[in-house]
Amino acid sequence: MSKINLKALSKAAMEEFVKEQGLPAYRAKQILHWIYEKKAESIENITEFSRELRKRLSDIAYISNLELLKRQASEDGAEKFLFGLEDGESIESVLIPDADRHTLCISSQVGCAMSCGFCLTGGIGFKRNLKAHEIVDQLTAVMKVKSENLEVESSESKIPSHPPLLKGGTGGITNIVFMGMGEPLLNLDEVVEALLRITGFMGFSKRRITLSTCGIAPAISELYRKAPHVNLAVSLNAASDEVRNRLMPVNKKYPIRVLLDACRKIPLSPRDRITFEYVMIDGMNDSLSDAKRLVTLLRGISSKVNLIPFNLFAGSRFKRPSDERVLAFQEILVRGKIYTFIRKSKGQDILAACGQLKAGYK
Ligand code: SAH
Repeated sequence: MSKINLKALSKAAMEEFVKEQGLPAYRAKQILHWIYEKKAESIENITEFSRELRKRLSDIAYISNLELLKRQASEDGAEKFLFGLEDGESIESVLIPDADRHTLCISSQVGCAMSCGFCLTGGIGFKRNLKAHEIVDQLTAVMKVKSENLEVESSESKIPSHPPLLKGGTGGITNIVFMGMGEPLLNLDEVVEALLRITGFMGFSKRRITLSTCGIAPAISELYRKAPHVNLAVSLNAASDEVRNRLMPVNKKYPIRVLLDACRKIPLSPRDRITFEYVMIDGMNDSLSDAKRLVTLLRGISSKVNLIPFNLFAGSRFKRPSDERVLAFQEILVRGKIYTFIRKSKGQDILAACGQLKAGYK
């Protein structure tokens, strides 16, 4: 009989497991505490339990961990982590440091089925959905690596590298974005379970978590029912169906009007906004009339736009527009009273920027 992976159990399943073992109910809470707060990597690590109990549990269960296969640092401070999964597949996560926050970008699937023409992850195709624990473990693993680093750094020098972020155990991570490999809304159940664990067991604030979708319109309201208050980002990337169809095949199923109607129906609290991501591609979606159309489309939606100049990769057929063109586009949106930011993608030298994750797949 194969052993039970304790990390694969939800809260209810853990309670059930403990009951089946004839253990008192509080053991479930203890195990969850050791896995999610103390980051125990094995049952042996749960030192609160007697040796006998650990032995007994180890005979029937285990705790899985992602295998850190590779860690790369960019010149600009971004770091990319390549993780191996139990079945031999692999995924990537990226840590992006900024002055006031450290954002971890995590994956929700191995590969991606969406085939957006400008995205390298799309090029590797879809392998499988991640399980909730494989999503959560990206956070756990990076927190662990970074906390160990911070300890070394602060013992070697009196000046910690990021003073406001030095919080025990979190490795300094302040924000999480579901913007790595995969389409989170096509793996909604596992993503929602991962969100429950990250916010419930690990105490991470929902306001500091953003989920990005290519526009699976019907799943947007479902997400809000199951995980209210998580921030939503939508990869719009075009201001007409004609252009969006060419860039993102998903648009043929859920065209812009259907997608934006789903966005309008979200019960946002007054200070919340939906982020619209717009990859700017030279000569494709970056004209001034595109900008004007975008202003019209977003009317009546509490929104913010992030312009992401296209990140190149080997073999891509697209080009990045000039800075002047990006600025002119932004200016029209700002005049249309839309909060608009130009996002500089970090980690380009190590293929860690938006749309560049491929985790070693060909
Ligand atoms: N599937 C989800 C989550 C991935 S987010 C989604 O599409 O939203 C990845 C973001 O990077 C998306 O906003 C996407 O539009 C953007 N992106 C993809 N390839 C890019 C590239 N080559 N240059 C810049 N941004 C890119």
